[in-house]
Amino acid sequence: MRKAIAELRSNYNWHALVVALQPLLELQKIDTALSQLVHRQANLEERKVLVAQKATLAATESENLNAKNELASARAEIAALEAANKKCETQIAKYSQQLKTVIAPREAEALQHEIETVRAERSTNDDKELLLLETSERLEQHLQQLAEKISAQSLTVATATATLNEALKICDSDKKALDEKRLAVAGAIDSKLIKLYDVKRTKRTTPAVADLHGSKCQSCHLDLSVVELSALKKLGADELAECPNCDCYLVL
Ligand SMILES: [Zn+2]
Repeated sequence: MRKAIAELRSNYNWHALVVALQPLLELQKIDTALSQLVHRQANLEERKVLVAQKATLAATESENLNAKNELASARAEIAALEAANKKCETQIAKYSQQLKTVIAPREAEALQHEIETVRAERSTNDDKELLLLETSERLEQHLQQLAEKISAQSLTVATATATLNEALKICDSDKKALDEKRLAVAGAIDSKLIKLYDVKRTKRTTPAVADLHGSKCQSCHLDLSVVELSALKKLGADELAECPNCDCYLVL
């Protein structure tokens, strides 16, 4: 750093340095704008909106999947009950047929009992099936509502995606414009001075070059005392003014 300043000292006089710091301030402003742009791009409201809407859609899709599974299992149960009842019918028909041929009253009684047992089973199955049919109907209606919800939410996600892409496109074009501007501004500044600027910049997050608004440093936003200000103004021809608070280069 000291060496770089020494090199500059040999090439410039103080007046030239003051003049040279102005474009450096311009460069700093572009770099500040560039880092603000990176921050803006990373925290786009449009992205937050899209993430939230995707989460809403995913929740509806998961609800839809659960309802579909419930419906499938209700339908499978209904099919099983219907198959069981078909078996019951066959048994009842068989026992009824046997009843016609038996003579012994005890045998007839036993067959009657069998028929009643199977009828009771069929009746229980019918009750279960009725409940399941109601459940299926409710699920079908729910699925229809969910399908409409998914279609509306998909549309919202598509719109939000397009909006985000648009915002990203604007960021890209802003960045391109700033990059071009930076290239032009940097091109007009002595490379040694840029090196000094880069060294200072890597050590901090606040601007490495700033001017004063009144007595306030525009990098740290702290006021310089009258003594500090007058000391800066008395700096030698070979010195670069630096903020006593934050150490940035100051354009006086
Ligand atoms: Zn400062």
